Amino acid sequence: MVQIMRVPNLACLLCHQYSPATVCDFCKFDTRFILQLNYYGNLLRYPVISKQFRHTAYDGLLALGEYAWPFDELIHRMKFHRCLASIDLLANWFVEQCMDEETLLPDCLLPVPVHFQRFLHRRFNQSAQLAKRIGAKIQRPVFYDWASRKYGKAQHTLSKADRLLNLRSAFSVALPASFHHVAIVDDVMTTGVTADVLAKQLRAQHPDLIVDIWVMALTCKTPLRYRTRCVD
Ligand SMILES: [Zn+2]
Repeated sequence: MVQIMRVPNLACLLCHQYSPATVCDFCKFDTRFILQLNYYGNLLRYPVISKQFRHTAYDGLLALGEYAWPFDELIHRMKFHRCLASIDLLANWFVEQCMDEETLLPDCLLPVPVHFQRFLHRRFNQSAQLAKRIGAKIQRPVFYDWASRKYGKAQHTLSKADRLLNLRSAFSVALPASFHHVAIVDDVMTTGVTADVLAKQLRAQHPDLIVDIWVMALTCKTPLRYRTRCVD
């Protein structure tokens, strides 16, 4: 009797060729990760990044890479198609690429909220989903209701100056307990203004609080010239 071996039908999320992992080795090899260790686990130490993103109120920044392939594709799938495999992959990569045993972990994770009406329409907050998975991996609690977003225009439709005006009145924040160190989690950092406004509001209430920003991708106007290849 001939036995038929059933092979699971697994395809790479990005190139669709056979892969036992969510993303095949070829696609992962082509992915330009920012090697955090070059910057002692804080991308604000890298001048090309610190010059491009507003950072008056937060202490540290971690990101997987520039908002380009494959991060743009994975984030689009996550945001607009609720692709759980993309969320899992980004969260796994974030912990794998951005952290080592010397990383100072925060006391809790704080996902950036979406506006209530947008949440009702989309029924999904990608930052909360990312924070939930990253928090489970590093064993840190996630607080979802720490900031509420009032009615405002979508940030991506506004100029840099208008974003700041729109955001200064867009959030109200309150931590559920007193913490020493927190990380605000978002999918993409475009100008840094949202993260900075949230950090500033937290600092106004807790002046000694250490605030880190963790994002999956950075939209860089000046392309990064740095060692991106993750070498084993
Ligand atoms: Zn692939």
